[in-house]
Amino acid sequence: MLPVKINGILFRKIRFQESSLIVNAITENGTLRSLLFKGALRRSSKLSNELLPFAVLKFTYYHKGSKNIYIASQVELVEDFEFIRESGYYVQVEIAKLVKNATQLLTSDSENPKVYSVIVEMLRKWRELENVNLHLLKAGFMLKILTFSGFRPTISTCANCGESISESKQIFFSPSAGGFVCDACPTPSDSFSSNFKDSLVMGKLLSQSFDRYIEIVVRNPKRINEFVERFWMYHVSEKFDV
Ligand SMILES: [Zn+2]
Repeated sequence: MLPVKINGILFRKIRFQESSLIVNAITENGTLRSLLFKGALRRSSKLSNELLPFAVLKFTYYHKGSKNIYIASQVELVEDFEFIRESGYYVQVEIAKLVKNATQLLTSDSENPKVYSVIVEMLRKWRELENVNLHLLKAGFMLKILTFSGFRPTISTCANCGESISESKQIFFSPSAGGFVCDACPTPSDSFSSNFKDSLVMGKLLSQSFDRYIEIVVRNPKRINEFVERFWMYHVSEKFDV
């Protein structure tokens, strides 16, 4: 049987039996994989040092195993984002949460390479993102992941009647309606009061690359992030790590 060699990002390591590790990874195809590294915790094995978080790794594994856990034999470092591991614990926890939330939209038998690309883009640019507001960054990351997974919120028009949002003085953001709602339409009970500027900010978060977020001027980034979190919880999962 020929081995599979594929790049990916590790997001969880679980001890298995005496000395083995099960690694959960997102592959470059945007597929979730559980890989068993036998003996990885033995003192003689280098594997546990090589199985790094916040890095692109090349995994070698065989399409055999049980319960969708494949037997892996090798791992190589492809691209290291060591500056993340060197940053504070709080930062690492925040990034790990974002990546874990993104995995909720991936499965072991479907592909979504764009979600993988968004994750790698964020990790790669992290050093340049130090001065970007964390609420904005989180909101933008989740918006991109949602959009590439088929859950794009309606931003520039009313989610209910389709009218341009810019015509309305007062608008609302409603997860159950699917995005922004104009003042002429009924507002569902989960509506947040909002305004045209919020919709512009959300549009920029979605369309611009992370390193341009520093140019986005917003008075209350925490509220924008709350909109996206609520949208995520309504459409994807209540199990959302905030
Ligand atoms: Zn409307």
